[in-house]
Amino acid sequence: MRRIRHPLTHLLTALALMSPGRMTAQQTHTSAALDVAGMDRSVKPGDNFFEYANGTWLKQTEIPADRSTYGGSAILIELTDRRVADLIQETAKANAPAGSDLRKIGDYYASFMDTAAIEAAGLKPLQPALDSIAAIRDRKDLARVLGSGLRADVDAINATNFYTENLFGLWVAQDLDDPTHYSPFLLQGGLGMPDRSYYVDSSASMATIRAKYQEHVAAMLRLANIPDADARAGAIAQLETRMAVAHTSREQSGNVTKGNNHWKRADFGTKAPGLDWETYFAAAGLAKPATFVVWQPGAVTGLSALVASEPLEVWKDYLAFHAIDSHAALLPGAFGQESFAFYGPVLTGAQKQRDRWKRGVSATNGALGFAVGKLYTDRFFPAAEKARAQAMVANLMAAFAKRIDRLDWMASSTKKEAKAKLAVLKVGVGFPDTWPDYSGLEVVKGDAYGNAQRAELFQLRQNLSKLEKPVNRSEWVMTPQTVNAVNLPAMNAMNFPAAILQPPYFDPKRPLAMDYGAMGAIIGHEVSHSFDNQGALFDATGRLHNWWTPEDFKHFEGSSKQLVAQYDAYKPFPDLAVKGQQTLGENIADLAGLTAAYDAYKLSLHGKPAPVVQGMSGDQQFFVSFAQSWRGKSREPAMRNRILTDGHAPAEYRASTVRNIDVWYRAFGAKRGERLYLAPADRVRIW
Ligand SMILES: [Zn+2]
Repeated sequence: MRRIRHPLTHLLTALALMSPGRMTAQQTHTSAALDVAGMDRSVKPGDNFFEYANGTWLKQTEIPADRSTYGGSAILIELTDRRVADLIQETAKANAPAGSDLRKIGDYYASFMDTAAIEAAGLKPLQPALDSIAAIRDRKDLARVLGSGLRADVDAINATNFYTENLFGLWVAQDLDDPTHYSPFLLQGGLGMPDRSYYVDSSASMATIRAKYQEHVAAMLRLANIPDADARAGAIAQLETRMAVAHTSREQSGNVTKGNNHWKRADFGTKAPGLDWETYFAAAGLAKPATFVVWQPGAVTGLSALVASEPLEVWKDYLAFHAIDSHAALLPGAFGQESFAFYGPVLTGAQKQRDRWKRGVSATNGALGFAVGKLYTDRFFPAAEKARAQAMVANLMAAFAKRIDRLDWMASSTKKEAKAKLAVLKVGVGFPDTWPDYSGLEVVKGDAYGNAQRAELFQLRQNLSKLEKPVNRSEWVMTPQTVNAVNLPAMNAMNFPAAILQPPYFDPKRPLAMDYGAMGAIIGHEVSHSFDNQGALFDATGRLHNWWTPEDFKHFEGSSKQLVAQYDAYKPFPDLAVKGQQTLGENIADLAGLTAAYDAYKLSLHGKPAPVVQGMSGDQQFFVSFAQSWRGKSREPAMRNRILTDGHAPAEYRASTVRNIDVWYRAFGAKRGERLYLAPADRVRIW
């Protein structure tokens, strides 16, 4: 329920990140075909394939005022959110039996929307939290309050969400050395801005954002009637800057082998002195586990030291500010407006706050996501569509198996492991086999703030209870109404939610070439994560154990270097280039996914020629559909944020993946001298 100010999603991140905007008939293309009118045929495909496929749309489309990014995925999110909102509102009216999931959904949403009740309650809902902070007398009390703030709100390798506003974040997942058990993973946190670079980067634009952040902190304190707001805000910003200095970079946080550090409970006192760990763990509900995985050991050591060294009063102010800031939407309107004034225009460039109903849908999805997802799939995901998607998955798997057999650089022992891994992959399509149980979550109509608190604590308890149970490989990490897809490396599983199985990615009414170019490439992208530089680290059981020979790895690293250089050369701004190393895993997945999707598409033809549709050959439909699936625009602050913090390259460069694929040159006549042209030897071939 916290503001999504950092990408929570894996594949389509920046496009899906912010709020849905307005939708016009012209912008939706629900017709069972490609958007030919949105192409720009005055652009040579070999110069800029993204603009060739999307140029007219890019020229004619303005990013809605309440958004920082806009495109195909945002439009689809908008459609899905409207459907979900209708379902939720129907549910709210239905007066379902007390205690049922339907009633909880209806009450949760209605309470979020009841701004009159929220206004009337004023700061009252926040008071218990502020009182417990004010009552802190010593470092032990501080440790207790910090521990009670821990939530299960981060994820190091599935949804790759490294952001939490709390000092640390908890992720309960399969242990990477012993995948038959769950372990508690502890991740760094505590910053009010998205990443350490916002605090330590010396550029003028970051300095401006920092100054505005400090003003925002002061404004929130003033709204809560806390005196000396400016001086306190200065000290809070300084504390967060020290925390940021201790933080591990986003790039290094993405490195699984650096993250897999097992600490015994007793190690914390010696390896990370400062915080009273026993008190912290007890307050967090983590009194039992004997071992933790400490993902960013340097940061845990640094943050713990700050808990001891920084003045108690500054910590108390810091905690009070974050208590207010993290739930601003559930406090009187002035808080939400101030929050948006910073997190909207300054951080993302969005000019207008999302409509409250859209935020209500997001909040309800956050609290009761799978209960809402069951309603959604019952209504909008027919069995025939599931079957069509499953057939695509089967062809993609067959294409991967053939590619593995054909690789000339991979040792036969490695190929055997790869095939074993392919055989165990658990690919979920549409929705999970079993639905999570929300009976332990209490929702009280008229108590929006309390509902959010209870939902967060429910989520924490659910995760803590997993520590006592066997690993469940059928568990989904993404709800069915999410427009996205995800690979779960340690579980050797994948989720393709029902909501992404819609146009422009998937459409049962159009030729398969178009579906393979869009959805097929997405499926291929996710499957390839099981075999990329990160997937190579997890074997068929999910254990962190590199199953490649040193020679295989050397070849792979050589090809990787080429791809790093290819992306480092993309410069969206004169002073900022795409980060080839930070986005490497995703760029490999894009390349492998597109390659395998092309093979799978050929398999689907069963040797017959593809029909010409809309004046395009089958291969042309395939690649144009791919480039249209990345259709999107970004405001500059959002684009800069993404380049600094995201593991994915911006959409335009993802569409440029085609330049590494020989058949693309044949399909569009791309020639030497054109900007995307690569000589055959320079095309990166990994799979
Ligand atoms: Zn990915």
